[in-house]
Amino acid sequence: MILLGVDIGGTAIKAGAITPEGTILREATGPTPREGSAVEIFAAAAALLQSVAGDNGGGHIGCHIGCALAAGLAPLAGRVLASPNLACLVGSTPRSALGQALGLDQTDAENIALENDANAAALGEQWLGAAKGEDNVAVLTLGTGVGGGLILGGSLVTGATGCAAELGHVLVDPQGPACGCGARGCLEAMASASAAIRRASAAQLPPADPGNLPLLCEEARRAPGPERELISAIGRDLGQGLTAVLSILDIDLFVFAGGFSAALDILEPGIRSGLDRGSTPQGRQAVRLVRAALGNRAGWIGAARRALPAAGYSQT
Ligand SMILES: [Zn+2]
Repeated sequence: MILLGVDIGGTAIKAGAITPEGTILREATGPTPREGSAVEIFAAAAALLQSVAGDNGGGHIGCHIGCALAAGLAPLAGRVLASPNLACLVGSTPRSALGQALGLDQTDAENIALENDANAAALGEQWLGAAKGEDNVAVLTLGTGVGGGLILGGSLVTGATGCAAELGHVLVDPQGPACGCGARGCLEAMASASAAIRRASAAQLPPADPGNLPLLCEEARRAPGPERELISAIGRDLGQGLTAVLSILDIDLFVFAGGFSAALDILEPGIRSGLDRGSTPQGRQAVRLVRAALGNRAGWIGAARRALPAAGYSQT
C-alpha cells in the first residue's frame, strides 16, 4: 500500500507518494492555475497525483489519498468555506472534484481525506519532521498570515466543524492593527511576515518589501539597534499570543514553519519574554521552540498521513 498526498496552495501544488512507514517514494510540484476555475485546479492536482502514483495509479488508490488545501473547510460536509488565495475554490467539493478528475468511483472519492494546509503541515511535522514522536505540539506557520495546527494527545485537533486551531487569530492587543478576519490585534496582524514588513515600514526601517525581510533579520542578528528592537517587539507579541495556547493546552513544543520562521533564533528571546509575562512557571520552563524540518513538503506529507486509515483518525 502507498499513500498519496497533495497540497493545493495559492501558488503551487505539491504531491507525493509515501509508504505508511514514512518512506518517500516520489514527489512532484507544479504551478497552481490560479486564474482558472476550481475544475482546472483539481485537474492539475489530479495530474500531479497520477504522476507520483506510479504503478499504483490504478485500482484502489482512491482509498489512500489525502488532500490539503489553502482554505477554510467544513470537512464533514467536504465543502470549501473560504479561501483567501484561491477564491474560485469557495463552495467547491474537493472530494468529488478530485475524484472525478482522477476517474475514481463515488466510494473511493468519498474516502479522500481532506484537511486545511496548516493542519496537514502540523500532521506532517509530527509524523516525519521537527515534532516526530511528540504528542502535544502546536505548529505555527509564519507567512503572509499565521496558520496554526494542533496535536494533542498524539491526535490532530480539528474541532466540531474542522476549524479548530486558528492560532493566528489569538488576541494579542485589542487596540492593535486590523486583521483580515475582521478583529483587531490578532497574532497574525502582529507577528506574521506581512505584519513584520508593515511594522518595519512604520518604524521607518528600510526593508519595506517582502524580499527584504531577511535583510532586516540579518541586521537584527548582527548588532543591537532599531532592527533588533523591532524583532524583539514582534517576538514578545508572538510570545504573548502563545501564552494563551500554553495556558489552555499545556503544549510543550512549538514548531515554527513558513518564511519568517528563519528568524526564530532572533525572535526567541522576545518570545520567551512574552511567555514569561503570562504563563505558568512550569509551562514556560518546559516549552521548546524549534523550526519546522519539512519545509514546503509538510503539507502533502501530512495530507498523506491523514489518509492512513490505521492512523486512528476518523475518516471524515
Ligand atoms: Zn484575526
